[in-house]
Amino acid sequence: MPRSNDAVVEAFSPESGVRFVYADVTGVARRLVAGHGVSAAAAPAFSRILACTALMQVDFVDPDETLVVSADLTGRLGGFHIEYDGRGFLRGAPFEPRPETLPAPRGSAGDDFFGMGSRVKVTRVRRGDGSIRSQVSMETAKGRPATPEFLFSELLSAAVPSKVCTSAGEWNGVPERVRALAAQRVPGGSEMVYNRIAGLVDDGTLAEQLSSDPTLDAMRDVLGLPDLFTGPTRAVAFGCTCSAERILQAWKDLPREELEGMLKPLRPRVFRCHLCGREWEIGPERIVGLLH
Ligand SMILES: [Zn+2]
Repeated sequence: MPRSNDAVVEAFSPESGVRFVYADVTGVARRLVAGHGVSAAAAPAFSRILACTALMQVDFVDPDETLVVSADLTGRLGGFHIEYDGRGFLRGAPFEPRPETLPAPRGSAGDDFFGMGSRVKVTRVRRGDGSIRSQVSMETAKGRPATPEFLFSELLSAAVPSKVCTSAGEWNGVPERVRALAAQRVPGGSEMVYNRIAGLVDDGTLAEQLSSDPTLDAMRDVLGLPDLFTGPTRAVAFGCTCSAERILQAWKDLPREELEGMLKPLRPRVFRCHLCGREWEIGPERIVGLLH
């Protein structure tokens, strides 16, 4: 797998009071698309969700937390479940990795995997004991396309007005240039400048720029913000917490009959992690161990 430059970078224009968050998660997208067998047709759609989730890190700095974003969609992707922990590790999956094999809902465009309307839940979980620190649910209007750009614009706008755009390509099913950008008007920021930038999101200018050249100089130019400077850069990488021990821990509480049922036929059980797609083989001797 080629090296990637996955990162989340903040930028700010003091003159206009507009903040930007930029995320590149090409490496994470490659790992997860391969891990879940996401089709080439769906890889860019799923990649856009991952890139948008990475933007959430701006208001999420506690290393002891995991952010869980899950959504039910009416489109053929069905929904998604993504986890992003405070150390910058990202994992997750779409509900349907090959949505193009399903019949399209009536009235939807051929390549639209998101559908209209959605229900999104954002949960902050404490690592370790798994206790829930906060949970927000949001339902978007039925008549609006539930694209990740729209969903995450709404989520981020709960704090300050925000507008999100993405770029995500694929080559032979391998994600390429998976990037997202959020523009945010901080309190006291210029409404005029923010609205102008929102226009560049709406007409596709910024998505095009993200895919071709997202460097600071190019961004200053296209945004018309010569004072734009970059702030902290944070690492983001694929990382999952699954292990054979964790699986056994979860099986520990199963009823005895169910564990006994797992022992016939007497061969290793394969458990597939729903977050990263990794398969774990659990030998019968370890399952027997749970019976005592
Ligand atoms: Zn896993």
